[in-house]
Amino acid sequence: MKLFQCNNCNNIVFFENNFCRKCGCKLGFLEKEMALISLDSKLTEWVLPNQNNSVYRYCENYKHGVCNWLVEANGSKLCKACSLNTIIPNLQTNQNKEKWKKLEVAKHRLIFQLLQLKLPIQSKIVDKESGLSFNFLSKQEATGENKNLMTGHANGVITILLSEADSVLLEKMKKDLDEKYRTLIGHFRHEVGHYYWERLIRDNNQVLEQYRTYFGDERVSYADALDKHYKQGPVQNWQNSFISEYASSHSWEDWAETWAHYLHLMDTLETAYYFGLTVDTRIDNENPIQMEALFDPYQNNNFDKIVDSCIPLYSAINSMNRSMGIADVYPFVISEPVIEKMKFIHQTLKKWAC
Ligand SMILES: [Zn+2]
Ligand SMILES: [Zn+2]
Ligand SMILES: [Zn+2]
Repeated sequence: MKLFQCNNCNNIVFFENNFCRKCGCKLGFLEKEMALISLDSKLTEWVLPNQNNSVYRYCENYKHGVCNWLVEANGSKLCKACSLNTIIPNLQTNQNKEKWKKLEVAKHRLIFQLLQLKLPIQSKIVDKESGLSFNFLSKQEATGENKNLMTGHANGVITILLSEADSVLLEKMKKDLDEKYRTLIGHFRHEVGHYYWERLIRDNNQVLEQYRTYFGDERVSYADALDKHYKQGPVQNWQNSFISEYASSHSWEDWAETWAHYLHLMDTLETAYYFGLTVDTRIDNENPIQMEALFDPYQNNNFDKIVDSCIPLYSAINSMNRSMGIADVYPFVISEPVIEKMKFIHQTLKKWAC
């Protein structure tokens, strides 16, 4: 994630901030500039000279404390991120409100990243056929057909169960499924990967052929593959060619898992770039753990440089976490075939963005 600056007092401010702690002005995220804008705290509508003197206000969801994005006063009431919601939690309980906030923090970060990658983001309400939407559902409160829903993706609809925003239940699921990593942002990145597979890969024969050379044949029965995965476990030596055990279950899951990791790497390296991080161990060695975050990964075509920076970076951050008795930030080993798969994703996105 980028770092932002209050344009009233130059203080460094963060993506989720809705006011500047130093000068007290309000802050709103302006998608057109991909920046936080400082706003007079006494007003509720603002004329922005850089935007042809258009009048802006906060997205409707600001009042729920889940969004700090700006919208044009004479346009849609919801921002790009919030307009993708079709079902939001029942807000009668404070617990649900808290969970929704966690979901929106992760989702807004996802949408910001998709915007940086210049991916198409169209609400399903506008484009029924190929749009994207989010359902945030509580299994306890669900009725009818929603009762059986799980966290997942189907035809542009991403469902995230509210229980994923409950830290105790999340931890329990992680333990029950023997996963190394389970987070809301991870869910969003994985599920949206399925959506963009349909947008970028499925309908383009040439790209689909290339895809199969990296991720195998997606025409293998998905239901049978998952059934086999859950009954017999991951394929042998999955570490050699997949980023996770689950990725070895089926080509689509390999794509979604690898895609999620690609997004993890890009975001981590962008954060490192904005903080000016450098890693250089005090031990001389022929295989030094070294990196210097000198470039914005979204502006970089060379994926080798990205991965070569991320591996030492994760090594350092994992060690920092161990110093504090916290689980590794990135408990994965990226093998050579996984790098090749991520490179394919990077190149596909670069071509798409042209
Ligand atoms: Zn300020
Ligand atoms: Zn919003
Ligand atoms: Zn999946």
